[in-house]
Amino acid sequence: MDEIKGCGEMRIISGIKNITKDLFYQSGVCKSLLWISRAYRCPALAILVYHRASPSHGDRGYMDIPENIFEGHVRFLKDNFKIVSMKEGLKNIYEKDSREIYAAINFDDGYMDNYLYAYPVLKRYSVPATIFLTTDYIGKRPVFWWDRVFNVISYPGLKYVNIDIGGSESIGFDLGNASQREAVTDRINGILRLRCEIQIQDIVGKLERMYPVPVEARPSAMLGWDEIRQMRASGIIFGSHTKTHRNLCLLKDDEIAEELSSSKKAIEKMLREEIREFSYPFGIFDERVKRLAMEAGFGYARAGLKRINRKAADRFLLASICAGALMKTSFLANRVSLSLFKD
Ligand SMILES: [Zn+2]
Repeated sequence: MDEIKGCGEMRIISGIKNITKDLFYQSGVCKSLLWISRAYRCPALAILVYHRASPSHGDRGYMDIPENIFEGHVRFLKDNFKIVSMKEGLKNIYEKDSREIYAAINFDDGYMDNYLYAYPVLKRYSVPATIFLTTDYIGKRPVFWWDRVFNVISYPGLKYVNIDIGGSESIGFDLGNASQREAVTDRINGILRLRCEIQIQDIVGKLERMYPVPVEARPSAMLGWDEIRQMRASGIIFGSHTKTHRNLCLLKDDEIAEELSSSKKAIEKMLREEIREFSYPFGIFDERVKRLAMEAGFGYARAGLKRINRKAADRFLLASICAGALMKTSFLANRVSLSLFKD
């Protein structure tokens, strides 16, 4: 059994890291790194990935960013970079020799809260964004397996879990504060996303039976076509994130082709325009999936590689920065400026 312990130690380390990030931001270190990157290593495209948004004040869910914190992100991005869509940013880094750093805001999955809490901010600052839709869930209220895991892990009465991940393997986690519980959920979900759907349901079902919590996992409201059309009319771009959000690397060729082409066609039919944007579910890809995405007629795809895109970027392996979990503007400033400096 793989045992992961030391909540107190982790808390101290992460506290020190957070203070350092604030210091770097406030003392101008981040600005200096951006200046150096702009002078010597441009053009560049930073793709910022988010999933969910939530009200500024209230209970937080899994993978969401409160509206006021998202607004701080947008303000920082607008003050320091040229915010463009992923499509335009890509065109610019390939075709222009500017000293510009471009930033693209992406939302994966297609949650209704994107419309309720992120879209008003995007409109207020007149900045574009691309939302990737999981088309089988449009207008529905599914309970995703990753939310079921979070529902168990985030229950405050639980201080420790031991999760059976199959193949007679199990992992134990101490559960501390809210951010550590989110990190533990990320760890578990990172393991589960490499398993097939039947195994995932089996593992999550066992976890729920072993640790019954008083409240069931909540369904997630997903965007409907009315909201999608309304946002499209004001400049938000939509792309495909497949039909059912499964790890494509675990599927057969014909299943992958179906996931890709039918989601593409569904969006094209409703929006009456060609869809070229794609984002791999969980950011996971391999050469076969990449080839099938090209064959399905997409023009570019966002993968789970964590870095900055430059002129040599592969348009079907676009790298990104996970921005949705960065709960302060200083955390985002550090992440982006350090990535630009070292990548
Ligand atoms: Zn996704």
